[in-house]
Amino acid sequence: MTRPHEDLTGQRFGQLTAESYLGQNHWRCRCTCGGTRDVRGAYLKNGRATACLACKGRAPIRKSTKFVVGATIDGITLMKYLGAHRWEALCACGNHFATTQTTIENSHFMMCPKCTLHINRAVKKARHAK
Ligand SMILES: [Zn+2]
Ligand SMILES: [Zn+2]
Repeated sequence: MTRPHEDLTGQRFGQLTAESYLGQNHWRCRCTCGGTRDVRGAYLKNGRATACLACKGRAPIRKSTKFVVGATIDGITLMKYLGAHRWEALCACGNHFATTQTTIENSHFMMCPKCTLHINRAVKKARHAK
């Protein structure tokens, strides 16, 4: 069996706790609901995977969201409070951008406008290709 690049056993990522290494940089994770999910280590670390698929499919639970500097929510990190429920956030790509608490609360996964544009373009391209 190959050794993990980095030992994540027992570490908590959102609702997921890494339980065992499966090889190829994948980890078996235990969700707080009791379910399991096999996730890439990189996804755990950059916040792309925070719950099992069953939980992800449910309506977002945002009641426990804490809006404090340094909090990581849905892949972004809160850097600075700008006032009037607005935050400066850090995207996984390293970009800083401004967003509102409402946007974060209503979103499953957050990223900066640049990344959003990038993904939208990729989706459009894929659609046009057909
Ligand atoms: Zn779950
Ligand atoms: Zn970005």
